[in-house]
This record gives sequence, C-alpha cells and structure tokens, in this order.
Amino acid sequence: MFLDIVFNLPIDKTFTYSVPDSLRDRVSVGKRVTAPFGRKRHVVGYIIGISEQFKGNYQLKDIIACLDEQVVISPELMHLAKWIAAYYLSTLGETLGCAVPYKSQIQTRHIKIVSLSDYLPEGQLKLSKAQVKAIQAVTIAGDLPLNELISHTGVSRETINTLVKKGLLNISFKQEYRSPYKHYTLSKSVQPILTQDQIKASSEISASIRQEKFGVFLLHGVTGSGKTEVYLQAIEQALAVNKTSLVLVPEISLTPQTVERFVSRFGQRVAVLHSRLSDGERYDEWQRVLKKEANIVIGARSAVFAPLDRLGLLIVDEEHESSYKQFDTTPRYHARDVAVVRAKHENATIILGSATPSLESFYNTQIGKYHYLSLPVRIDEKPMPQVEIIDMKEEKEMFSIRLQQAIAQRIKNNQQAIIFLNRRGFAPFIQCRSCGLIMKCPDCEITLTYHITDKRLKCHYCNYHQPAPQSCPECHGEDIRYSGIGTQKVAEEIHRLFPEARTARMDVDTTSAKGSHEQILNSFRAGELDILVGTQMIAKGHDFPNVTLVGVVSSDIGLNMPDFRSCEKTFSLLTQVAGRAGRGQVQGEVIIQTYSPQHYSIQSALSHNYQEFYDQEIEFRQQLHYPPFTHLMNILIRSKDTNQSYQTSMLIAAHLKNNNLHNDIIILGPAACSLSRIKGYYRYHILLKSSKLQQMRKLVIKSIHELSIPNSVDIIMDMDPADML
Ligand code: ADP
Ligand code: ZN
Repeated sequence: MFLDIVFNLPIDKTFTYSVPDSLRDRVSVGKRVTAPFGRKRHVVGYIIGISEQFKGNYQLKDIIACLDEQVVISPELMHLAKWIAAYYLSTLGETLGCAVPYKSQIQTRHIKIVSLSDYLPEGQLKLSKAQVKAIQAVTIAGDLPLNELISHTGVSRETINTLVKKGLLNISFKQEYRSPYKHYTLSKSVQPILTQDQIKASSEISASIRQEKFGVFLLHGVTGSGKTEVYLQAIEQALAVNKTSLVLVPEISLTPQTVERFVSRFGQRVAVLHSRLSDGERYDEWQRVLKKEANIVIGARSAVFAPLDRLGLLIVDEEHESSYKQFDTTPRYHARDVAVVRAKHENATIILGSATPSLESFYNTQIGKYHYLSLPVRIDEKPMPQVEIIDMKEEKEMFSIRLQQAIAQRIKNNQQAIIFLNRRGFAPFIQCRSCGLIMKCPDCEITLTYHITDKRLKCHYCNYHQPAPQSCPECHGEDIRYSGIGTQKVAEEIHRLFPEARTARMDVDTTSAKGSHEQILNSFRAGELDILVGTQMIAKGHDFPNVTLVGVVSSDIGLNMPDFRSCEKTFSLLTQVAGRAGRGQVQGEVIIQTYSPQHYSIQSALSHNYQEFYDQEIEFRQQLHYPPFTHLMNILIRSKDTNQSYQTSMLIAAHLKNNNLHNDIIILGPAACSLSRIKGYYRYHILLKSSKLQQMRKLVIKSIHELSIPNSVDIIMDMDPADML
C-alpha cells in the first residue's frame, strides 16, 4: 500500500510513502499523517491518494502515524483546495494546511457522570446521612456530573466512592465539549412577522434551496433592514430539506451579539469557528461538525473550509469587507470568492449580503450572473439618519462647532454618541521643528505614532516602540511637534470639552486583553457610557438603540490612500458608521467632517445613494482597467538586501514583458511599494491587469519558473489583491 502525500510547504510536489502493516486499516484519503521528511522525523502531511503499486526503483520510507480516526478532508473539500491552489498560486499542501488548521495533539475532554445503578440491594441498608443525600440528588437529577454532585450537595468524594463500591451508584465517562458559547443563557427567539420585502427575498432564496441548484443572491439591504432575519429564514429552509448551512461574517463583527442571534434560534445545532477560540474549543467545534451534531456553522474567513456535509446554503454577511481576503499568509484567498466556488461545486445556494455591496458583486447582478434582492427600507420604516457634511477648511479646531453642539445636546438629553476616527494612537507625526526630522521606524518606512498612555512612539506595522524623545535625535533641538490626530487625542479632546461625559475608547490598544472588546460594548449598551470613541471596530454590526449621533472626525484619511479601492472603502465605511445612528425610537444624526466635501464618495454617503456612487465608480474602473473589468495580480518582491530586491524585480518585469506576446496583459512596474520598507524588507512590486485570467496566470508561472531567483529574495504572488501598499 502506497500513499501520495503533500506537505504544508511551498513545494508543489506529491511524495510517495509506504505504510507499515499496523497502520493499513487506518489510512485513507483525506486523513493526516506524520512522516519523516528531510531531516525531520514527524512532519504532518495530507493523504491525497492511495495506490497498490509503486513504479519507482528506490526505497520508500514508512509513514510514522495516522493522526485522524475520521476523514477530515472530504472529497468536496479536496476539490475546493485544488481549485484554490490553482487560482491563488499556492501549493496543495499549503492550502490544506490552511483548511484544516487544528492541531493534532489535542485530547478530547471527558467528564465523570454519576448515575444510579440497576442493583437493588436486599433488605435494609445502613446509610449515612451524607450517603442518603447523594442518592437522593442523583435520583432526582437522573444523570449528574460528578463535580456538580459534590458542589451541590456538599458530600465528599469518599462518600460517593463508597456508594460506588457498594454498587449503588455508577460512574461513567462522557465527552464534554469545550463550547465557546456555553455561558450564554438564551431564550429561544421566535421569528417575527416578515415584511413584504423580506418575504419576497426569502421566497426566492427558499425556492433555490429546494431546487438544490447553484444560485448566487446579492441581498442589498440598508443597515437595519432585516437582512439577518432573511438569513435565519433561509437556514430554516435548508434544515427543512435536511441540508447544512455555513455563515461567514467578518472577524471584527463576530461578536457574541451576532453569534447569539443564530444560537438563540437554532441552539446546539450551531457551531462557531473563529481565530479567538482556544485550540481545544476549535477542535471540539470541528468534531461536532464532523460528527454531524452541528449542522450550522458560523465563523470568520477560514470557516469557509468547515467540514459540513450536504451543504445547501452559504451566507456571506458584509460581503464587501476586505478582511475576507487573507493578506499575510499563503494561500492569499478571498473567502467570499471561495464560498461562491464552493457553492457552485456543491450545488448550493449562496447569499451575499451588504448595505454597500462590492463593485464586483453589484456588477455581477447587472450582467445577470447574480440575482439581485433588495431590502430598501429599515424595519418599521425607521427613517435613515440625517447626514450633514462639515467643510473643515472653514473650521479651526478638531471638532467643528456643529459637532461640539451636537455632542453637548446628546449629553444633555441622556442620549449616546459615537465618535469615529480611522486612526489609533495620539499623534501620527512627530517632527522636530528646528531641523524638520520626522521620526520613523528604523525597520519600516513608516512614521511613528505617539501613544500618550505610555508615552511611547510606536510603529503600527511591526510593533517597534521606543520612549518618546525629549529632544531631537538629530539636532538635539527641544521643540518637537506632535501633529495629526488619532483616537487617543480625540478622546482627550472630548474629555477637555465635556469633562462631565463618561467616555471610553475602543481600538486595538484598548482591546488587547481577552474580553475587553465585549466589556466596552456591553457597558456602552447598558448606558454606563455617554460617548464611545473608536476606529472601524465600532463601525460594524452593533445595534445600540440609544445612539442618536455619529460623528466622523476626519473622513479623508482613507480617501487619500494610494489604493484603487479607496473611494469604495470610504463610501462603505461612512455608510456603515452612519448606520449605527438612530436604531432606536429617535431619528439619528450623522456629522461627517471632511476637507473634500464635494467628493462623490462623501456626497453619495450623504444621500444614502448607492446607485449614484456605483455609477461614478464603475466608470472610473472601466477607464483605468480595474476590477470588475479585469483581474489583478500583484507580484511582491522583497529582500533585506535593497539591491537584490530591486534587481530581481527588474529581471522579473523584463521577463514578463518579453513573454507578453499578444500584449493582452498590462504590466506595470516594477515600482517601490507605498510601504517601501517593512520589518527591514525592501519591497518592490509589479502589477498585472488583464481580463484574460488564464493567460495571465500562465505568463507568471512560466516566468517565475524560468528565472533563477536568489534565495534571499521572496516572491509573493497575490491574486485579486485587497491592497497593494
Ligand atoms: P440588518 O442585518 O439588515 O442590519 P437586522 O436583521 O439586524 O438588520 O434587523 C434590524 C432589527 O430589526 C433587529 O433588531 C431585528 O430583530 C429586527 N427585525 C428584523 N426583521 C423584523 C421584522 N420582520 N419584524 C420586526 N422586527 C424585525
Ligand atoms: Zn516598523
């Protein structure tokens, strides 16, 4: 018996191993093994094929162990992994490593359960008071975990042991799952009476689920229009035809509040998968899915690989979110796009939901590839918030007079406000006024941000930090200017202007401790705070009925990014943040401060007009050959040696251009990246644009194969990049 095995390595090759007799019954395709590889003895590999013959004429090595009892990579998942590897130019091993992330050594956890035995003693039994108490408790409860029996009755372990010896009680073992939401006390939520729009959307989706045919629905619904209810309804339908469902939400909005809405409707049938789970919790949730005890999965990006069988429905909430794209490790896949491919392969229905659909998805409805469903009004016809734009060229302070007044009014009326700024820290630029030196990270080409709480300068890319200097390291001048604004400075300014207001700040710096994220949100929801200052962390998904004001301190930060999606991102972020206002009884108000009040991203957000934004933006995309009219591939070339980095990027670009025989691929660069140095790496990139996906991929693979790239240079290929900084 011979196994074809791939490893989680950037080597696109299958290796053959033999199987010792003791493991013959255990191995099958889709399980993981450990095997000797190179100088290491126990490398985790994935079985992708089994054969009875081996034609090579060399000695094969035996695998060491098989890690799984059950198949963890179903044929469907294997197919999906192969597609990803081909599309995103990763190896199958790397892709499987990403798809099956849990560790192998985790033990299932068992607890001791006490129950009455069938043994009926003859005659009178002499029992102590404590023994009687224990038996009574077990009789009433039926089965009872040992530790609960002890804690509830106060009887000792010895007493119970004696009863077991006497044959009156039994102790057995039961697997206990480490559930991430065990502590929720949930009452079952009931379905509200759906609105006409919800009914229309739901019935089209239901029909598609029942037909067991592939279909993509773009559910375009303004914030608070009841999209989640449509999702719940669709899951209900999938359950009715005995199919499983997969729900993806962005990591940042995977709050207990979101999960609760699903758990309170479907209870233990829901499994939750995301990166903040402990290894044990994740393992147990996977087990529940594999054993078909859970048939609904809700999770972030990597949950797209959840081992659900009989998949009937996929849901991608906030489908426009760029965090669905894995940007830092191989494979650099986009979970929404992978979900669509998975749906297609498994003949499932997929819903992409958003208040501000991505240009790509909306375009697909225009050309008839996706079905368009719309929820144009808020539930109960609550009005959309009133949006006002403040031209900051006319203002002198960080908060315009208008925004100051609006905040003061909220405090007076016992209402709440959210103040949003897309940059953390206190001051993002620290400059010496005598010599002009701007302080930058020694390893990155990034200005250091001043953090006032610990009086340090921090690099937001590599986490380098140092104490804030008293004088300029260059000229020893002592006049140092702290310019620009971050959330810390905003919070301080609020404190100065409104000392009586109870204010909290929510950004990466205040939420690093486990649970702190929820804690801030809970106390805001409970009304213990008046004002919440934060980054995009507060923009998504939360529902705070008492928030009647949202202030955007500076909406220009995102707009000025060197990124072709910067307008789309700004429009959608402003719309999302604005959606936090007025979810209760009182109409909400949104105040956007900007230096470019005429910009169409901001104007369209003002009027809540997606179509207007889309019409402008799509024209620009077409003119400049950007998605959805082309596919992009970004090739990042990086090295700690600036010369090698540059030379290699020149070499690759020249080779690509020479081989671009039909001139159907636009090749831009090489150019230094906007972030030209990160963590000591010098970074260049080449950008390819083409509507001919196959040709583009072939060209890149061919070129990289033909060139000899120095070992000290990394080449990172990013298909459909989310950003190119
Ligand atoms: P979205 O996901 O589009 O932002 P939600 O699904 O969160 O909107 O709905 C907003 C609020 O309206 C929620 O509190 C939800 O429970 C409620 N809701 C949704 N549908 C209905 C309905 N048909 N009748 C009454 N309330 C509803
Ligand atoms: Zn740095």
